[in-house]
This record gives sequence, structure tokens and C-alpha cells, in this order.
Amino acid sequence: MSDTDPCDACGEQVTDALARTVRITVDRSEVDSQRLCPNCFAGWIERYRTEMASERTGDEGSGIIVD
Ligand SMILES: [Zn+2]
Repeated sequence: MSDTDPCDACGEQVTDALARTVRITVDRSEVDSQRLCPNCFAGWIERYRTEMASERTGDEGSGIIVD
């Protein structure tokens, strides 16, 4: 049984308990999904918020889902 998979960003092994899966949706369609370790997740969210803030899209149905 494997509950450990590599982080999509840094490639380090991360257990399911610690991993975060982020899904990016545009117009209610999933366009990307990544499994991230806690470190990469923190950095990813930071970048995403910065980009969203500068673009100011705010479309309904677009955004991120974090599992
Ligand atoms: Zn990572």
C-alpha cells in the first residue's frame, strides 16, 4: 500500500496526510491540478494570490479548489 507520492513541484516524497491537491478551474472547467508538499503549497498559494490580485479577473466559476 502506498500513501506516498512525489510532490509535483519539487519531486520530494510526501505522504497523503501532508499533501495538498490544488485544482485550478476556469469557467467551471478544471484546467490544472497539482499535488504539493506543504512547502510548495505555501509558495504556490502565495504566487497564485499575487497573480490573481494583479489580474483582477474575478470571473465566477474560476478559481482554485484545495483538497
Ligand atoms: Zn514540494
